[in-house]
Amino acid sequence: MLLELIYLLASLSFIVGLKMLSHPETARNGNRIAAIWMGLAIVGTLFLPSASGGEAPSLFKLSLILGTIGLGLIAGWQAAVKVKMTAMPELVSLFNGMGGACAALIGLVEYPHYVGEPLSLAAIAAGLLIGGVSFSGSVVAWAKLNGKLPKPIALPYYNIVNTLILLGSVVLAVLLALAPEAQFLWLYALLIASFAYGILFVLPIGGADMPVVISLLNSFTGVAAAFGGLLYGNMVMLTGGVLVGSAGTLLTVVMCKAMNRPLSGVLFGSFGGSATGNAAEVGGSIKEISLSDTAVLLNYSQKVVVVPGYGLAVAQAQHVCHEIEKALSEQGVEVRYGIHPVAGRMPGHMNVLLAEADVAYDKLVEMEEINPMFPQVDVVLVIGANDVVNPAAHDDPSSPIYGMPILEVEEAKHVIVIKRGMAAGYAGIENSLFFKPKTSMLFGDAKKVLTAIATEIKQMG
Ligand code: NDP
Repeated sequence: MLLELIYLLASLSFIVGLKMLSHPETARNGNRIAAIWMGLAIVGTLFLPSASGGEAPSLFKLSLILGTIGLGLIAGWQAAVKVKMTAMPELVSLFNGMGGACAALIGLVEYPHYVGEPLSLAAIAAGLLIGGVSFSGSVVAWAKLNGKLPKPIALPYYNIVNTLILLGSVVLAVLLALAPEAQFLWLYALLIASFAYGILFVLPIGGADMPVVISLLNSFTGVAAAFGGLLYGNMVMLTGGVLVGSAGTLLTVVMCKAMNRPLSGVLFGSFGGSATGNAAEVGGSIKEISLSDTAVLLNYSQKVVVVPGYGLAVAQAQHVCHEIEKALSEQGVEVRYGIHPVAGRMPGHMNVLLAEADVAYDKLVEMEEINPMFPQVDVVLVIGANDVVNPAAHDDPSSPIYGMPILEVEEAKHVIVIKRGMAAGYAGIENSLFFKPKTSMLFGDAKKVLTAIATEIKQMG
């Protein structure tokens, strides 16, 4: 009874925690609440098994379990404390892969105990297949994101091969569930097929589409864990899995919309890779602007929009950016931030970054809302953003990012782009915005440039 109560409260805490994650002010506490209750559910499972009719683990098994949890805690804690904000998606991908691996391991370990029980075996086969895909796919996504693998890798006939592997895996899973006797060869074949599918699924995907893949793999892990919950009749595992699965699926759909990619393209085809053709050559001359001219222009504007991107995060320039915003606001300039859903390297990256610098949440305006405002804006300050303001997404059908909604900054009166040089962004393509007559380039590291601008603006005040 006590264990059931803990499971119920833990399940509720996941729902409340998830809800709290939707706002930067409550997100940390939401995470804490869900983590504490997850911890209590684990402790309850280990020490109160008889409460649910289970068997208490032997002292040896208990010390193995606690020792392994301790090792995992230390490794996970270290990784999370040390990780740079910009490397967060890699870490999320790796953590997610571990979840998938756990679900697959449950299948391997439990299989012999359920032979002859088709429904339980179906849950085992599904958990093994989905968990295996999630594990290998997440490892490939991790390697791609941290640059250990080139992006994207074009494979011949990968679509046909992948579909065949998937169909073969489903057939294997059905056979495994129906077999009256243990078939370990099929079990291991299913595991290998799931790894192969995960690898082939993620390898050809282009950089600009990685967020969609990560969130999809995340939902896979949730579904795999939910099958584990079904197998054990464990409510908290089932609720956790269903929540991760549905939240991941919803996020995938939202991301697909944000990047204008059909979900079927994610499941059955490479997307965002080089297969879409050669992006048109971009050329022309660029115009540079000095630090002091930038400060003057900003100071005498009525409306300024800051567009933060990955470069702002790398330079850790969010605090000085907030200083400029405050200095300008004191001069009566209206300053807002235009937030693209995939600016940076993870969904919500810019929200988290700016919240860290205490930027008021109501100053952050989402893409759909800010786009119609640009014609009234005097200056758009693009800081370390590139792909999310690339007009090729609108006007170049051969571009890999064609169709992705962007921040339409060129509608504003002036655009100032702060970046170190003319290097491409994550999608690896040129940006015609830099060559437009309204655009001025201000080259340098975002933090150094913004610090100098802040000093100039304060002197003017
Ligand atoms: P981009 O990666 O397109 O561009 C960042 C730019 O910042 C570069 O062109 C670089 O140019 C500049 N930069 C780098 N370091 C500095 C620095 N220290 N100071 C100033 N500038 C710097 O960033 P966006 O945010 O525009 O776009 C995000 C991209 O990442 C999209 O393609 C998106 O799809 C992808 N992505 C997003 C994820 C998400 O969930 N948000 C996850 C994975 C990928 P230079 O070197 O010349 O300075």
